[in-house]
Amino acid sequence: MTEELIRDRAARVLERVARAAARAGRKPESVRLVAVTKTHPVKRVAEAYEAGLRAFGENYVQEAEEKVRAFPDAEWHLIGKLQANKVKKAVSLFGWIQTVDSGELLADVSRRCVEAEKTLPVLVEVNLAGEESKAGIDPGELPALLETAAGLPGVTVRGLMAIPPATVDPEDSRPYFARLRELLSRTASRGAGGEMTELSMGMSNDFEVAIEEGATMVRVGTAIFGSRARRGG
Ligand SMILES: *Cc1c(COP(=O)(O)O)cnc(C)c1O
Repeated sequence: MTEELIRDRAARVLERVARAAARAGRKPESVRLVAVTKTHPVKRVAEAYEAGLRAFGENYVQEAEEKVRAFPDAEWHLIGKLQANKVKKAVSLFGWIQTVDSGELLADVSRRCVEAEKTLPVLVEVNLAGEESKAGIDPGELPALLETAAGLPGVTVRGLMAIPPATVDPEDSRPYFARLRELLSRTASRGAGGEMTELSMGMSNDFEVAIEEGATMVRVGTAIFGSRARRGG
């Protein structure tokens, strides 16, 4: 894909973000566009950066390294499964970890953050539909995980992330997005998670619906960079 195209596509996605936010009575700045760069080379990231994008998402720690080092002042989000043996490197590379799905993983991230003398914002990934094939905790496990989180230094749980079942019609995702929003507000009203305000939900196919339902971060790959080789999903 040419540079022009990425710039045009990024602009169009930003416009759609703004329009969806307006429909929901929200400011466009209340939604962070996380451009998902997995499988795409550094030069595509450069084009997106040139187009003004500053938040990027990667699924694999290893694959992210070169890109993060090329654009260290951008905000890098880990949006793929974090393996226990990659936690140290992930903590050194990423500004956000969106895929915390167990107390053990959170404790690991905490320990590495303390070592690195930093505090990382993280999201808890929730498996809304109980899909075997997907990562994320069962919604019922959230209170216990947040209790664990409250005692850990170096990490702040800032909200929830989810990947609803894949659909063709974006409207099919709406009930899942609404459920994640309700889960966040229930958590907040119980007094847990005082700093929990982020909802990472919505991808190329359904980010507008996600914004209408309260997304504060949308993770968009294909609509900006075009289709990718199969490995990255
Ligand atoms: C790949 C990926 C995306 C981006 O998906 P697109 O459909 O290309 O926008 C978003 N979130 C996660 C977790 C992903 O793995």
